[in-house]
Amino acid sequence: MIAGIDLGTTHSLVGVMESGFPILVSDGEGRRLTPSAVWFGADGEMLVGWPAMEKKEVDPSRVVTSVKRLIGRRANEKIEPNPDYPIGAGPGGWMSVLIDGQVLSPEKISSHILAKLKADLERSCGQVVDRAVITVPAYFNDAQRAATKRAGEMAGFVVERILAEPTAAALAYGLDRLGEKSRVAVYDLGGGTFDISILELNAGVFEVLATNGDTRLGGDDFDAALAAAWGLGVSDARQIKCALSERDSIEFSGKSYTRAVLESVCAPLLARTRAHCLRSLADARLEPADLNAVVLVGGATRMPMVRRFVAGIFGREPDTSQHPDEAVAIGAVIQAGILEGSVQNLTLLDVTPLSLGIETFGGLMNVIIPRNTTIPCKAGEMFTNAVANQSGMKITVLQGEREMARDNWPLGSMEVAFPPATKGQARLGVQFELDANGILHVLARDTATGRDTVIDIQSAVEVSDEAVEKMLGDSLEHAFEDMDERVFTEARLKAEEMLPAIDSALAQLGDGVPADVRAAILEIAGKARAAIASRSTGDLKKLLAELDTLTEPLAAALLEKAMAG
Ligand code: AMP
Repeated sequence: MIAGIDLGTTHSLVGVMESGFPILVSDGEGRRLTPSAVWFGADGEMLVGWPAMEKKEVDPSRVVTSVKRLIGRRANEKIEPNPDYPIGAGPGGWMSVLIDGQVLSPEKISSHILAKLKADLERSCGQVVDRAVITVPAYFNDAQRAATKRAGEMAGFVVERILAEPTAAALAYGLDRLGEKSRVAVYDLGGGTFDISILELNAGVFEVLATNGDTRLGGDDFDAALAAAWGLGVSDARQIKCALSERDSIEFSGKSYTRAVLESVCAPLLARTRAHCLRSLADARLEPADLNAVVLVGGATRMPMVRRFVAGIFGREPDTSQHPDEAVAIGAVIQAGILEGSVQNLTLLDVTPLSLGIETFGGLMNVIIPRNTTIPCKAGEMFTNAVANQSGMKITVLQGEREMARDNWPLGSMEVAFPPATKGQARLGVQFELDANGILHVLARDTATGRDTVIDIQSAVEVSDEAVEKMLGDSLEHAFEDMDERVFTEARLKAEEMLPAIDSALAQLGDGVPADVRAAILEIAGKARAAIASRSTGDLKKLLAELDTLTEPLAAALLEKAMAG
């Protein structure tokens, strides 16, 4: 038996397949949602779930909630809004919770929540369950996925799979009911994050075509905007917001609040989801009409304005058949069923949300696994030494969408040694393997000696949620200048190789080169050097092409001279 777990920011759920059906389990008191909260008492006592939430009023600095926002994050990243409990740097510079001088890692705290779910599940089904599928936001990076997996292991699970939440929601929706080949978009607007994914089912193979989103946009932002507009506290604003999903207006403390005002306040926030939807359609190379359904999940999609907005973008009424709070957990259970063999005729293929590559000469990003590649996957590339007698190479692994290495995130780097060789002789194979959990493993192999070096990825990741979102925005915003810089860098690298070679050919051939040809070559070479200095890409490319043509006879003459000599 394998458990399916939605380890949520505010709530978590657990379930298993039973007689071919996904079933969610309730705690001892009949509640399926367990608050993702842990209370740490002064005497070492600990409470998890609802009892921990009850301490929130009296002992807020000892109740850890929303720890998912901290997991896999570096201590120097900004966490907004700041939690009620103290946080700071733990071992290795990772963000940790500090209570009574104790350093508690977010994965340790998450493991307490997972252990509680495990206990509830085992009580309910009367047997030990020690394997699990755990969901994470599609945008979770390597460190966040790895930390979530460790949390599962600390709770006593073998983590069989880390699964993206929107993918889980689509599994719950059951694409297969739409026929042999079908496509759906999953629009997931939760408390803190927005995700949009497009999935396809084709002859039993379930594939994520594209995924996009904003890790800093959700119902909580609506609450903050409404609180400001109405001059209320955030929790009152949230209560009124939820009530206005059912009615046009309500009275609260003697005042009237209307859905019309709510919608005008929330409209600009909601509008931010449009670009992500359009981009995911473009990535999947689909028109809205190509979709068979648009599925809504996440608590905030209960708002009528969200439903209208989604209908407007996709040109169809969204499907609201899924329980907004439970769809992800149900999907995790179905994935567990696929893995244990109780759900058949279905294979799940997920994708990587950001490109992975390494830095090459001139500071360029060399993509090895492009964004939206189906995982698990392996890809590699061969590299060689740029200068003679070089005895090693620094491999820097990058994640991101920008053309220049410096604009992407370094995930890890390592100096790989090889025996000194003449230029272009050494061969280093770099292999990227992205496992089914979306976790990257990098191997560098010296093909001469067969020696492998594993590049450690975990230690260097330092990517905040905000930065992920910014990366995608920036890559669009800077697309033209980035491309220009890449083209310039490539032209410059070519010139840097060509110009010294021309000088050396002219010197070797001496009088063998007619004076007018020599003068013409030198003039263009001079202009090319000036074009490098002034960074004029267009000129440089043109001049290099001219040089190519002009120097053709030199190459032939050099060859002749060598044969004669
Ligand atoms: P989730 O993260 O999916 O649990 O979504 C939680 C978010 O949904 C929070 O921001 C809630 O305020 C919001 N939410 C829950 N119920 C409603 C409702 N009836 N109307 C509007 N928003 C809701």
